[in-house]
Amino acid sequence: MFPGQFEYHRATSIKDALDLLKQFGDDAKLLGGGHSLIPMMKLRLAQPAHLIDVTKIAELCAIGESNGKIAIGAAATHDTVANSSLVRAKLGLLAEAAAAIGDVQVRNRGTIGGSLTHADPAADYPAAALALEAEIRLDHEGGSRTVKAADFFLDLMTTAVQPGELLTQVSCAPIPSGTGYAYLKHPHPASGFAMVGAAAIVTLDRNGKFATVRVAVTGLGPKAFRANAVEAALAGKAADAATITAAAAKSADGIDALADIHASADYRAELARVYVRRAIQAAVARAKA
Ligand SMILES: Cc1cc2nc3c(=O)[nH]c(=O)nc-3n(C[C@H](O)[C@H](O)[C@H](O)COP(=O)(O)OP(=O)(O)OC[C@H]3O[C@@H](n4cnc5c(N)ncnc54)[C@H](O)[C@@H]3O)c2cc1C
Repeated sequence: MFPGQFEYHRATSIKDALDLLKQFGDDAKLLGGGHSLIPMMKLRLAQPAHLIDVTKIAELCAIGESNGKIAIGAAATHDTVANSSLVRAKLGLLAEAAAAIGDVQVRNRGTIGGSLTHADPAADYPAAALALEAEIRLDHEGGSRTVKAADFFLDLMTTAVQPGELLTQVSCAPIPSGTGYAYLKHPHPASGFAMVGAAAIVTLDRNGKFATVRVAVTGLGPKAFRANAVEAALAGKAADAATITAAAAKSADGIDALADIHASADYRAELARVYVRRAIQAAVARAKA
């Protein structure tokens, strides 16, 4: 299958990309790794007349540390994120999620900005971004704004990104030492997408009780979400197996679980309970290590 005709533009800077976006308006789409957009174009679900490639903008490919946060350029590939020594050392959860994406070809082409903007309900990064309380920078002509991950994912493949905006950076506070984390998923056997994925970040107090718990789930509903009922059931409680299992049983509470040819809603809900439990247990083990 071939996509319809389009004109390719390689943006050389953020300003250049924003100028091109302004020039072509609704006829243009930004191009990251193309691993979601190009298949959609082949299916004629998207038919942009202009593609603006942002993957050669040096600023968007960089990963660094500034103002106490780890900043990841939107065009950093999944492989770059997974193997960045800075991300591995200070944002291990994000590195773990990136390493779990698809296969080596997908990780070498796909970008964090493209993945977050595409907001596939089965994508891995959204759960990690929510658990890490990431901040997402969106640039537009003449300025920028920062959106918290909690406010970024609006619905199925729908985000806070507005026409004329370019996702430029994802930033997160480093995970403090003594904090446990884990990202675990049940991968689709063909694509690797998360049938369900769970991200957990925990700290324990000196009595072995949960001091901090953040849990986020992807793949279950139309968008990734923070599992508030699970977090509430763990707060201040002993980090033992019975408590974690009882809390994880709430993983699908209030969620309209997706059903498709790959899995029924009930199966996905059960996967969520299992993978949330496993992710919390793995995070607790790391917090104790
Ligand atoms: C076989 C296969 C297996 C996969 N398995 C997984 C998996 O296991 N887990 C997973 O999470 N994902 C998986 N993916 C999806 C993959 O991670 C994609 O790379 C990702 O969803 C989109 O990133 P991209 O850079 O390719 O974006 P593109 O496809 O280029 O773009 C996606 C959307 O984002 C927009 N966009 C791109 N960059 C920006 C930007 N900087 N600012 C604003 N908008 C932008 C585009 O206009 C488009 O609407 C898989 C894909 C394939 C083909």
